[in-house]
Amino acid sequence: LERTFSIIKPDAVKRNLIGEILSRLEQNGLKVVASKMVFLTRGEAEGFYAEHEGKPFYETLVNNMTAGPIIVQVLEGEDAIAKNRQVMGTTDPEKADAGTIRKDFAVSMQQNSVHGSDSPASAAREISYFFSEIEIF
Ligand code: ATP
Ligand code: MG
Repeated sequence: LERTFSIIKPDAVKRNLIGEILSRLEQNGLKVVASKMVFLTRGEAEGFYAEHEGKPFYETLVNNMTAGPIIVQVLEGEDAIAKNRQVMGTTDPEKADAGTIRKDFAVSMQQNSVHGSDSPASAAREISYFFSEIEIF
């Protein structure tokens, strides 16, 4: 079984979509093995998205990620990284496939409701950014 890291972003938490989003993930065979609500500081959001530093959308991205509390989670399942990305849908909600989280719930590219790790290396980094091994079940 593989682990991936997931965020329910501020725009979705604000709109009472935690349960809806979690249901989609669980129904697709992803098991929650760690979960908590956090409110990122600017520095924490900048560090999490360091790979995007310098890109035109970086400033807005950090602003959006610090606009309210988020749910950070570790999900476990077969091909969890790819499965989570598939259930999320593509970055731009207008281009996302029907039935995906972003197609159904996202407001825009910037307020796209969820994050999911894109590779085993980023999953490992992102999980350890928020969780220690004893917090993961
Ligand atoms: P995430 O990393 O949040 O799971 P992603 O992997 O689909 O999303 P990335 O390319 O890693 O997309 O970008 C991180 C986030 O930055 C996106 O989720 C989106 O909110 C924002 N973003 C990315 N590209 C753009 C863009 N061209 N214009 C505006 N916002 C963008
Ligand atoms: Mg990404």
